[in-house]
Amino acid sequence: MITPWEVSEDIDYKKTMEQFGVNSIFDVVKNLKKPHNFMNRGIVFGHRDFQRILDAINNGKDFTVVSGMMPSGKMHFGHKMVVDQLLYYQKLGADIYIPIADLEAYWARGMAFEATRKIAIEEYITNYIALGLDPEKINVYLQSKNEKVKDLAMFLSKKVNFSEMKGIYGFSGETNIGHVFAPIVQVADILHPQLEKKVPVLVPVGIDQDPHIRLTRDISGRYKDFGFIPPSSTYHRFITGLLGGKMSSSKPETAIYLSDEPNKSFKKKIMSCKTGGRETLEEQKQFGGKPEECVVYEIYTYHLIDDDSELKKLYERCKSGELTCGTCKKECFEKLSVFLKELHEKREQAKEIASKLI
Ligand code: SF4
Repeated sequence: MITPWEVSEDIDYKKTMEQFGVNSIFDVVKNLKKPHNFMNRGIVFGHRDFQRILDAINNGKDFTVVSGMMPSGKMHFGHKMVVDQLLYYQKLGADIYIPIADLEAYWARGMAFEATRKIAIEEYITNYIALGLDPEKINVYLQSKNEKVKDLAMFLSKKVNFSEMKGIYGFSGETNIGHVFAPIVQVADILHPQLEKKVPVLVPVGIDQDPHIRLTRDISGRYKDFGFIPPSSTYHRFITGLLGGKMSSSKPETAIYLSDEPNKSFKKKIMSCKTGGRETLEEQKQFGGKPEECVVYEIYTYHLIDDDSELKKLYERCKSGELTCGTCKKECFEKLSVFLKELHEKREQAKEIASKLI
């Protein structure tokens, strides 16, 4: 089951790509001068029409990135992956749009507008800036306050019917009409930058958000007068939770929050991670570990080691049995502690900037 509101634990990415008609990123990314590590490491694995963005990057032309959020709790390392990609594209010169889906949060989850706004500013935008996004070069807005987006959504809704929405999202007769309309607002979020500047738009998302991309691409072609360029998209893997399964904001034992304090209990959480280690130390030394099944190795790969040769060395030390899981987890905790401590300091400065952005 994969929809923007529900994702099953074990996703077969290869099969999902085939079912959804998503292309492999490796076919295009080899033409990028400096791909993001996520692309080289298969974390960003798929795309639609990324070629258009590649052309813009390689020819120094303008392009836009849209990355919406529906704030619902504390930001964790899964959310950080989106910011890491935004940072990459901002450095390449992209205009960044960050819609805050307060309308969707109200319709789909019953969240009060003020609560969504508060979490968006104090937790999400503050962290986005602390992680390095240049606040001068981002367009952050609340859906409920963006008249252009709302007007466009109402206009575009004329050529979408309930059967189509039901087919894409599985809505039932019980679904409230606001929830049914929410994806059209997202379509407007993605397309409205082109009302001002007709340049290619990229939406980097998890594969669960692909229904929105498909709908947007379809609708963009129904309004020839606008001359919309269908949006491009990339798809990244979900980070695994610390105990295996999904990393979830509502389950602290599964998540590394950006606000985690690097203290004793945090150390305990990291030391309890699911690893690819053997049953006994003797077996580990004799047969080596299984980094491909290890959450700790995934944290290193996704977040802690940029240098490929350093990562390869870790992989080999694990495989050969030279590295034990205890030492490996302790080093992981130490690296995370440095990162979190620095982030906490930056967040203090980012707070005020974030509050003025919306
Ligand atoms: Fe994972 Fe490290 Fe153990 Fe290898 S040594 S299985 S990478 S924790």
